[in-house]
Amino acid sequence: MRKHYSKFVIGSLLAITVISCSRFSPFPRAENVAPTAQARLKLVWLSLDGFNAGAVNPWTSKIRSPHPKGLVWLLNSANSQSDLKVINPSITAPSHISTITCTGAGVHGILDNQSWTGTATVGGFNREYAPENWVNSLRKQGLRVGSALYPSIDGNGESRTADVGIAYDNPGSQPQILSVQNGTTLNAVIPDRGEAGHTFPIDITAASDGQISIKTPWGDVGPLTKSAPSDVFLMSKLNGATRKAAVSFLLVATGDKNTVEVSPIEIMPAFGEEFTRDLDAKNITFSSLRDYRLQSNTSSFISTLEHRRHFIVEADLAMLARNDLDVNFLYFEDLDVLLHGYYHDDVNEAAVVEYLEKFDQDLGRLLSAIPSSSNLVVLGDHGMSAISYVLNARKILTEAVASKGNVTASGGAMYLYPPQGDMTQEPPADLDLSAVAGKLRDITLDLTGAKLFGKVIVRGSQEARDEGLTGKNMPWIMAFANGGVAFKNSVENKELLARANWSPIPEALRAKYPDPMNNGVLVIPAPAGQHGHWNELPEMRTKLVLEGPVLGGIDPKTVERTLGLLPVVADAMHWQRPSGCKQ
Ligand SMILES: [Zn+2]
Repeated sequence: MRKHYSKFVIGSLLAITVISCSRFSPFPRAENVAPTAQARLKLVWLSLDGFNAGAVNPWTSKIRSPHPKGLVWLLNSANSQSDLKVINPSITAPSHISTITCTGAGVHGILDNQSWTGTATVGGFNREYAPENWVNSLRKQGLRVGSALYPSIDGNGESRTADVGIAYDNPGSQPQILSVQNGTTLNAVIPDRGEAGHTFPIDITAASDGQISIKTPWGDVGPLTKSAPSDVFLMSKLNGATRKAAVSFLLVATGDKNTVEVSPIEIMPAFGEEFTRDLDAKNITFSSLRDYRLQSNTSSFISTLEHRRHFIVEADLAMLARNDLDVNFLYFEDLDVLLHGYYHDDVNEAAVVEYLEKFDQDLGRLLSAIPSSSNLVVLGDHGMSAISYVLNARKILTEAVASKGNVTASGGAMYLYPPQGDMTQEPPADLDLSAVAGKLRDITLDLTGAKLFGKVIVRGSQEARDEGLTGKNMPWIMAFANGGVAFKNSVENKELLARANWSPIPEALRAKYPDPMNNGVLVIPAPAGQHGHWNELPEMRTKLVLEGPVLGGIDPKTVERTLGLLPVVADAMHWQRPSGCKQ
């Protein structure tokens, strides 16, 4: 369970004061944040989700006037100097937890972003893991640690809490998408998540000329501009503590009917009472508008990403400006989100590049605010593969095998877990895992002529031991595809569910795989990029940057794996590693 929800989010949510409302800029920009006097900060550890130069270079090479210390600088620094192999599975939650515990997925047991427990499918980010993470270990050593959105540092217990910062969040409710006709008013409600059955009323009015304005209990918003989020702030009472919350509105589409997205009321769980008050005072609060239903509406989707990034950058800058922290862990999701959504998407390339230009400037601002006393580590958690084909995992495994267990699929990873019940149970006598694995290893994708899988691992095998995937809750089979293929755990009787329109089917195979457009088979709109593939593939690798008075002397090339990074950094800084970190 996510205990921080009970601590921070669930509770009586009472609007008591109207604070303010801003239209174009969700937050006031922090001024003159570059620290001067403080020399306490010794390390900034920055994770850029999906940081893989090969994937983002086609976009970042088009960035005009890159910031001298921004994203382009990071990529240039890292490109020829590092090639970091991530763990198997090359998936966000397992990879981040491995990096900060320096243990493989078999030890910490988080195998996916969504994994099967024998009774339910649960989020990998929320699950408990036994190995000590470095945030906790550093705090025990007497160091003061900040963390902003670092995966698994979510306030769920003392071992997942920092001294200062914002907790990793996993928004509990989706935004509402509402439709309002010109010349009418729509009465809608925002549910009060703190009090069942209680709602806040809002009125959305579309004037005859299409201007949209909104009345809320906390003030009026509008007229809205398309793809430009507007926030209204309110004070909320949560278990006795008053915090600032935000409701955000986005005009998604205009016409006779207008579409408006309304965020849930959300409070960012934060660490450190004084820091929390500081964020509230500076209006550094937001409520998420990001919603993958908007992905086909690029300008709106990207504006929700922008809305979130503004908040994170301001919170990060507030953290960097403090003089009472020794270490800061930071995290940005942006590259991953863009690659999932728009990899190989020529139509939306200009919008993505424009976004990355702003991201580059923000990163540059952030990295320039790091005092010279501090070292800098930048790395990713996996790369990205442009998806050409989406295959039905159950068909690949065969229904006879799939029906004996529980199949899950995530990008290029396909798992066969035990069915309902004890996760340590052995397969039934009529299921020979070695034989199944042998067949999977032999599969050649006739669309490309290439082997489908880079790695197929059977529970308890030598290969599982070699990969460090030896925990007792491992799936019976873990199969990691080569690049270009993603799996869906579909019940449809189709082997090929979808292909990207940049992946033409050879003439010779037209009879077997007729043109999807004519056959009703999906041409995949999104995601266009995926990870979870075999970690040896170049496109699944990530990059490393080491800078600063201590770490600047280390050649990033000598660090070959994300699992080996923490020991190198900890030893160089003369700090203890987390207790399970023996690498
Ligand atoms: Zn990731």
